[in-house]
Amino acid sequence: MLSKKLLDVKNLKTSFYTHVGEVQAVRGVSFGLDKGEALGIVGESGSGKSVTSMSIMKLIQFPGKIKEGEIVFKGENLVNADKKKMMSIRGNEIAMIFQDPMTSLNPVYTVGNQIIEAIVRHQGLSKAEARKKAIEMLTLVGIPSPETRVDNYPHEFSGGMRQRAMIAIALSCQPDLLIADEPTTALDVTIQAQILELMKDLKDKVNTSIILITHDLGVVADVCSRIIVMYGGLVMEEGTSKDIFYNPKHPYTMGLLKSVPRMDDSEKKRLVPIEGSPPDLVKPPKGCPFAARCDYCMKICLEEIPPYFQIDEGHRSACWLLHEEAPEVEVETGVRRESING
Ligand code: SF4
Repeated sequence: MLSKKLLDVKNLKTSFYTHVGEVQAVRGVSFGLDKGEALGIVGESGSGKSVTSMSIMKLIQFPGKIKEGEIVFKGENLVNADKKKMMSIRGNEIAMIFQDPMTSLNPVYTVGNQIIEAIVRHQGLSKAEARKKAIEMLTLVGIPSPETRVDNYPHEFSGGMRQRAMIAIALSCQPDLLIADEPTTALDVTIQAQILELMKDLKDKVNTSIILITHDLGVVADVCSRIIVMYGGLVMEEGTSKDIFYNPKHPYTMGLLKSVPRMDDSEKKRLVPIEGSPPDLVKPPKGCPFAARCDYCMKICLEEIPPYFQIDEGHRSACWLLHEEAPEVEVETGVRRESING
């Protein structure tokens, strides 16, 4: 049987060699992505989520370096791919959209020209054919009057329209994978919802796989069928959206859930921020990276990085609380637990 897997990231480690030392931004991340699947990567800033996506695109700049691991895309390990190969993959097979479309769109060219250029470069169509396709793409992403709007400059578009235009450029070459890094953070809530709806729609219509990177669990709920929660350069928990939202097993995931508003929350519970700050990745903690902020920290948490405990098929969590020798405790009640190993 042919594998459905489009991307397989195995034990990825990416570091930045700065004057203060080696910043171990990604410390051994593994996950897979199927064709047509949407995966959310969630975590605070500094969790390693954006460095993971930049590593997949091989856009890590000096003093950064992929230290170890594999990024297998359509059966080929991109870690070994040369510049020429990556140039042909970027934009063509993997496209990326960022938080601020104004920094990605060139202000001196019309939006249409920028889409046309991407189509001509990657698909070798004539300018006239590419213009027709550019209008089609603007229609697809819901830009009104695309025949006229195609000749507008980026500053003539609103923030939401610029982000739609970025998506149109990214999708104009029908990439197999679209990586969206905080694509809605700079937008107001209504536009944010429209852009997310659009991404969901495009996934179904164009069958593009999506990696959606965000600090906000609420953003991935609707678009992604699977979620990875990252912290301190590691994956803390992975599962389906249902697993993560309704059966979270990691105290950090639970903390994130308590800090986002829920539509289904009839009791209007107070939002609780997670106290403290992320670990120093120049000197990462010996044990669990979340230990300093975790109410349930035990002796073993300070000494050993927890392995992944399998909860269900496709649902895993790196927390010592799931060890069979750990005493029973209801994490959500906030009761500090006895420790295992003393
Ligand atoms: Fe908390 Fe320990 Fe679980 Fe880490 S391993 S999240 S410190 S209980």
